[in-house]
Amino acid sequence: MIVPARPDVIPVNVVLIGPPGCGKGTQAVRLAERYGIPHISTGEILRGAVRAGSELGRQVADILVKGSLVSDDLMTDLVRERLAQPDTARGFVLDGFPRTAVQSRALDEMMSPARMVVMLIDVADAEIVRRMGTRRVCDACRLTQSVSEALHPDSEPCPYCGGNLVRRPDDEPETVRHRLATYTAYAAPVIEHYRVRPSFGIVDGHQHSDQVAAAMARHIESLIANP
Ligand code: ADP
Repeated sequence: MIVPARPDVIPVNVVLIGPPGCGKGTQAVRLAERYGIPHISTGEILRGAVRAGSELGRQVADILVKGSLVSDDLMTDLVRERLAQPDTARGFVLDGFPRTAVQSRALDEMMSPARMVVMLIDVADAEIVRRMGTRRVCDACRLTQSVSEALHPDSEPCPYCGGNLVRRPDDEPETVRHRLATYTAYAAPVIEHYRVRPSFGIVDGHQHSDQVAAAMARHIESLIANP
């Protein structure tokens, strides 16, 4: 299904929550394109800092490889700084923050809750483990792709740009289990924080990504049409 772009419905501040591998990144890219707004992925910001060898990168490298959480203070400062950039004036899609109750309260202080649309992409654990086993990312164009089976070779050419398709270090099976356990430990209070808001939406993440995208667009645009 092709969902036409609706640049007339901006500004829109979208916050995506859900387990690792639920499709937040894929959907965030699509929403960012649809509304012409920046996609802010805290995971990508941190991985970029590690690749660049910056001070931030050195601070978080070990935490990322283990699949544990970076501190609330550091993440809150990072997101506050990013949301203060002028390109967010027409809206943004936030992917990867908040992940804890402290972070969700911090986000409310950065921005009026009335201006946020929070959506949860719901996917069962077994499906997450299956997806992460087949997930690869291109080391050149950074596109995330899925290979046919988990035992697929760890490096082969990207079909789009010829770069290397590699497994994200934190997608190793042991780390995936740890990330899922971490998500489960922290997610419930974050979901409870948002569940009571009329603008909160839950989307079934087992559907085809086109259907997930269409459900999200319907949710956002119905809120904008009926504020
Ligand atoms: P996932 O697929 O687990 O959602 P992300 O790309 O969002 O992956 O994040 C990768 C890693 O970056 C996390 O496992 C964690 O170590 C760190 N990270 C990203 N966002 C946050 C956050 N809001 N709070 C704490 N740690 C974070």
